[in-house]
Amino acid sequence: MRPEGQGSLTAAPASRTVVVAGAGIGGLTAAIALAEQRFHVIVLEKAPQLDQAGAGIQLSPNASSVLLRLGLEKHLADHVVTPDDISIIAARSGRPIVRIPLGASAQTRYGAPYWIIHRADLQAALLRRARENPDIDLQLDAPFEDVSLHASGVTVINREAQQQTSRRAVALVGADGVWSNVRHQHFGGVPASLSGHVAWRGTVDAFKLPRDVSQNRITLWLGAGAHLVAYPVRGGALINIVAIVAGHWDRPGWNEAGDASEIAAEFASRGWSAGARKIVEAADNWRKWALFTVEGAGLAKGPVALLGDAGHAMLPFAAQGAAMAIEDAAVLADCLVRQPDAATEAFRRYAAQRQTRVAQVRRTTWQAGAIYHLPAPVALARNLSMKLLGGRRLLSQRDWIYDWRLA
Ligand SMILES: Cc1cc2nc3c(=O)[nH]c(=O)nc-3n(C[C@H](O)[C@H](O)[C@H](O)COP(=O)(O)OP(=O)(O)OC[C@H]3O[C@@H](n4cnc5c(N)ncnc54)[C@H](O)[C@@H]3O)c2cc1C
Repeated sequence: MRPEGQGSLTAAPASRTVVVAGAGIGGLTAAIALAEQRFHVIVLEKAPQLDQAGAGIQLSPNASSVLLRLGLEKHLADHVVTPDDISIIAARSGRPIVRIPLGASAQTRYGAPYWIIHRADLQAALLRRARENPDIDLQLDAPFEDVSLHASGVTVINREAQQQTSRRAVALVGADGVWSNVRHQHFGGVPASLSGHVAWRGTVDAFKLPRDVSQNRITLWLGAGAHLVAYPVRGGALINIVAIVAGHWDRPGWNEAGDASEIAAEFASRGWSAGARKIVEAADNWRKWALFTVEGAGLAKGPVALLGDAGHAMLPFAAQGAAMAIEDAAVLADCLVRQPDAATEAFRRYAAQRQTRVAQVRRTTWQAGAIYHLPAPVALARNLSMKLLGGRRLLSQRDWIYDWRLA
């Protein structure tokens, strides 16, 4: 990768150059996958430096398999945790409902690991991998502004050092997140919709929590209208906590400070068990994140494609948003390398391959939310049926998601 801000942008032929807007998880994965296929990739990132924001992220085997294939094993090895299981608990009684096996069971079943990682560690690993490839040219503080189409591709306009810059390329990939300007400019301005849920995210030093929570596991408490997730990141030193509650707070962004007493009071008023409330009270660095979704934008229009949250932001209840961005990146690079001189047709095939899968996964996120948040007494029936099904059969319900591999 060329030193940031010093790219020689006209050196590579436009016919082999792809511009990616956004250096998040999706944009960096796309850049690595495209550069592996010998495209020259210019990544335009709005932020002056790559963000350390966000907390933990689960990477299911459909996503980890792509990252392994792109050569990220050594970049990720020191940062991932492989949880043994997901322990599901009834929030009010504090009683365990079921354990879904992960660890070696997931590895054997899907041929790839189920990992958890701090988001900043994942982004840093992707960046390190990108830096190994001289065909990736990352421009920070370089927001995408506009695109125009012409017979041989696109002209992309962005801002750099307070000036407008334009570059010709064979295609543009909008990986610029839920508030995507590429979607705004080129896909009819389909807006992000407020979901009515707010995610509160915090971390706690592992030694401050009881061992059954700080162990190598994902713990999920289910309550009426809310759920809570805790899992280790940073090699187990920190426990990542996400609390999802109903709400219409709607500030865009990833990193708004949240008031610890507000979220503690919210959970106290719900009558949750002392164990779950202690977890919420232990975190002191809360961040609030209004959950928005994006639907109906389409994923391709001429030689311009959308990828990840820019095209299909979804609720995080199946832990699949980043996984879908990673799958998108692999499919997009594969389609483009098969038709490098026909980006419009390549992106049409990319959209056709992705649309149904993304819609199915999106439906699963809504279903998961509805099931997680059931009120009593239906929640008792849910708990009983989860118990009767057992962890292995619950895991097998996700086979169609985790089994995905690039065709
Ligand atoms: C609480 C919560 C928990 C989650 N947990 C999981 C999980 O466990 N597993 C999972 O798979 N997913 C999870 N997700 C979803 C996941 O975080 C997102 O789907 C994923 O980060 C999307 O990646 P992206 O690259 O598409 O977008 P982003 O990560 O948003 O990256 C977009 C990038 O584009 C840049 N940008 C914006 N505008 C411009 C512009 N005009 N020009 C240039 N650059 C621009 C931004 O600065 C940013 O760097 C979770 C989400 C939430 C809210």
